[in-house]
Amino acid sequence: MSGTHNALDVAVRQFDMVAERINLDPAIHKRLRVPARCYIVSCPVRMDDRSVEVFTGYRVHHNTSRGPAKGGIRYHPDVTLDEVTALSMWMTWKCAVVDIPYGGAKGGVACNPKQMSRTELQHLTRRYTSELVNVFGPRTDIPAPDVYTNPQIMAWIMDTYSMSIGYAEPGVVTGKPIPIGGSLGRNEATSRGCVFSIYSMLKRLNRDVNEQTVAVQGYGNVGYHAADILHDAGATIVAASDSRGGVYNPKGLDPRDLAAHKNETGTVQGYPGADSITNEELLELECTVLIPAALDNQITERNADRIKADIIAEGANGPTTPAADDILYDRGKYHLPDVLANAGGVTVSYFEWVQGLERYFWTEEEVNSKLKGIMDRAFENVWHLSQTEKVNMRMASYMIGVKRVAEAMLLRGLYPQ
Ligand code: NAD
Repeated sequence: MSGTHNALDVAVRQFDMVAERINLDPAIHKRLRVPARCYIVSCPVRMDDRSVEVFTGYRVHHNTSRGPAKGGIRYHPDVTLDEVTALSMWMTWKCAVVDIPYGGAKGGVACNPKQMSRTELQHLTRRYTSELVNVFGPRTDIPAPDVYTNPQIMAWIMDTYSMSIGYAEPGVVTGKPIPIGGSLGRNEATSRGCVFSIYSMLKRLNRDVNEQTVAVQGYGNVGYHAADILHDAGATIVAASDSRGGVYNPKGLDPRDLAAHKNETGTVQGYPGADSITNEELLELECTVLIPAALDNQITERNADRIKADIIAEGANGPTTPAADDILYDRGKYHLPDVLANAGGVTVSYFEWVQGLERYFWTEEEVNSKLKGIMDRAFENVWHLSQTEKVNMRMASYMIGVKRVAEAMLLRGLYPQ
C-alpha cells in the first residue's frame, strides 16, 4: 500500500516541516513525532473450515491532549504498525483543523477481508474488540470505519464492548447503523464534507459546479458518495476506478448506475459504454476536479507533473507525497489536503458520539447544516492562512492543527515533572 514511500516517514516529514515553519516548542516537537501509545494484539479466529488463523491487529493513539482518541479501523493485507501510526498522526491534525474535541488514533488488522466470509469477519472483529476492550471506551477511544470496514463491523464492535460492560453503549464507536445509535448523514459525511470543501474552492475561483468534470480514484464509500453528490449538483463524473482498474467516459457516467454495476460484478470495470483505463491513467486524465479516494501514496514525484485537474480534493488519507505536494503547488494547482477535505467523516462521527452520549438524535438537515458550518469555517481559516503565509493548503492546515494541539499540551503541562 505504501509502496516506495513509508507512510510514517511521510507523516513525520510533513510534521517536521510544519514544526520548523511555526517555530514549534522543541519539547512539543519531540513528543509529537512519536505516538503516545501503540497496542499490538493477536487475534486467533476459527475459520469456516474449522482451522485457526491468527491475525495481527493494531491500535495506535498518537495524541490525546484535546480529547479522547478517535480514528477508524482498517482491514487490509498491507496494514502495518507504521501505517497505522502515520494515520493516527494525521487524525490528530485533522481533528484539530476542524476544531473538534478529539485526539488522534487509528486501528487496523492485517487481513484480506475480500477472502473472508461474513462469519469469519464477525469472529475477527469480536476478538479484536475483546483484546482492546480496556482501550476502547466512549471517554477514551472511539473507533470508526475505514478501508474495508463498514457499519456492520461497527455494530459488532459496539455489541462486543456492550456485552463486556453489561449495557448498551452507543458512544463507544461511530459509523454504526442507524437503529443502534448511528447518525443520519454519517455514511455520506466524508464525501459531503469533501464536496463542501470543493464548493468553497469553486466559490473562491468564481467557477460553477455545472462546468466541472470529475475523476474519482477509489469507488468505495468516500469515492461513490462524492461522485453521487457532485453529479446531483450538476458536475460531470468522467471517470472512476477501484482496485481492479477504472472506467472513463468524457460525456459522463451515472454514479448510481455505476455503483449498481460494481455491486453486481465486484468492480467498476466492464461498465457498458465506458472505456477501460488503469488507475495511473485516471489520475492523469483531462478533468477539472480529481478526487483520490482510495489509498495513500498515489500522487508522487513520478506523476505529479502530469496531473491535469486544477482542483485536487483528497478524499483518501495520504494520497500525495511531500515531493508531489511541492510539484502541484509550483504548478498552481488548488490542492485540498486530506486533513481538511476528508474531515467531514470525523466531524459527523463527533456528532454521532454527542448524540449517543445524550441519547438524543438530530435530523439529517441538522447534521448536514452543522457539518457545512464546520467545513466552511475550516476551509476559510486554511485558505486565508495559505494566502497570507504563501504556503500550500496542507502546510496551512497543519500550521493551524499543530498549533492547536501544542496549545493544549502546553496548557495541560507535563506530568509528572
Ligand atoms: P472503502 O473500502 O469503502 O473503499 C475503498 C475503495 O478503494 C474501493 O472501491 C477499492 O476497490 C478501492 N481501491 C483499493 N485499492 C485501490 C487501488 N490500488 N487503486 C484504486 N482503488 C483502490 O473505503 P473508504 O471508507 O471509502 O476509504 C477510502 C479512503 O478514504 C481511505 O484512504 C480512507 O482512509 C479515507 N477516509 C475514509 C473515511 C470514511 O469515513 N470512510 C473518512 C476519512 C478518510
